[in-house]
Amino acid sequence: MKNFNPADNIQDLQYFGEFGGVNPSISDSSTYTFLSAKTMFDTFEGNMEGCYLYSRHSSPSNLYLDKALAAMEGTESANVSASGMGAITPTLLQLCGTGDHIVSSRTIYGGTYAFLKNFTPRLGIKTTFVDITKLDVVEAAITPDTKVLYCETVSNPLLEVADINGLSLIAKKHNLTLVVDNTFSPLSVSPAKLGADIVIHSLTKYINGSSDTVGGVTCASQDFINSLKNVNSGASMLLGPTMDSLRSASVMKNLRTLHIRMKQHSHNAMYLAERFEKEGLKTVYPGLKSHPSHEIYSAMINPEYGFGGMMTLDVGSLEKANELMELMQAKNLGYLAVSLGFYKTLFSAPGTSTSSEIPMDEQIEMGLTDGLIRFSIGLDNDIERTFQMMKECMMELNILSSEAVLA
Ligand SMILES: *Cc1c(COP(=O)(O)O)cnc(C)c1O
Repeated sequence: MKNFNPADNIQDLQYFGEFGGVNPSISDSSTYTFLSAKTMFDTFEGNMEGCYLYSRHSSPSNLYLDKALAAMEGTESANVSASGMGAITPTLLQLCGTGDHIVSSRTIYGGTYAFLKNFTPRLGIKTTFVDITKLDVVEAAITPDTKVLYCETVSNPLLEVADINGLSLIAKKHNLTLVVDNTFSPLSVSPAKLGADIVIHSLTKYINGSSDTVGGVTCASQDFINSLKNVNSGASMLLGPTMDSLRSASVMKNLRTLHIRMKQHSHNAMYLAERFEKEGLKTVYPGLKSHPSHEIYSAMINPEYGFGGMMTLDVGSLEKANELMELMQAKNLGYLAVSLGFYKTLFSAPGTSTSSEIPMDEQIEMGLTDGLIRFSIGLDNDIERTFQMMKECMMELNILSSEAVLA
């Protein structure tokens, strides 16, 4: 079998627009005509391939993007949505109902954490949060009611890495569905190839890469995608987080350069992580040998795309973190903003922003310290120049001493 390469799979798709254009035509209709009444009935019953009914269910532009993302993750099918949360919430609600139980990583995206902790209990769905890097702890949390094992490949913001192979063995043994949010590591990691049943992305981040929209996708078997879109019982169809066609066409154009961007994000983040670690700063990056999950991550990645663009530095206190972020923004090194995957570096203090849903005592237990800055490293052409400028900011604020630290 030829090696699975997600970027080749995207590149190999061929599209012909309605008028022979190299880009498929953008579909611009909410509803679709039928030549016969019988076809309309069959389409409602879900029996007609290639017929469109109503754009909350499917539209030609969304199906093109679905197909490209399914090719990228190596799943049978996919369903795009208006946001990452618009993919995560219907997927979990499709899998679980009253009385069901979820075992989830405790270091997940703040919105997903809030959904599982505060919202799904109202529907009778309970979640146990665990340290996902400890497979024995994960397995011990499973009950007879457990339906889903949920994690992120690389988790926000501490960059903990899930052993997807190991988790999939546990999921199979206990007949659970393994759902993996792969937002931080598109192309680098292919969770479905490592045993995940369902792979989710927030397209908002690397995949779109332009910070100009939110979007999401669920990649899974054809059966599961059909169930999400079922007109009578599908959580995506009934809750309605549909992506707009104009937007899905623009996301698809950005997807085509994802492989080039990921290589540059990874290259730049690796460079800065190595340099700042040498300077003596507490640096967390999965590409560093000092990272607790370095070995597991190395074994999982498609190496040419590297260890991704996310990195954290601990500068000691929230006050220093805030001063540094303001100074770096003033010096045009990036933006003080949440989110990731932009061409410019983005930085934020997770304790007060993206992870603020997590109560303070739990933040401390996780190692989410006050002085932590999360970086989404940009596509900077000259990363040595960036390093020198960042270092100057740190010396100005006495985060790094102005004397040469190490030879
Ligand atoms: C941003 C993000 C989400 C949510 O996606 P939206 O597009 O903002 O709804 C989910 N998971 C991860 C890991 C994210 O970074």
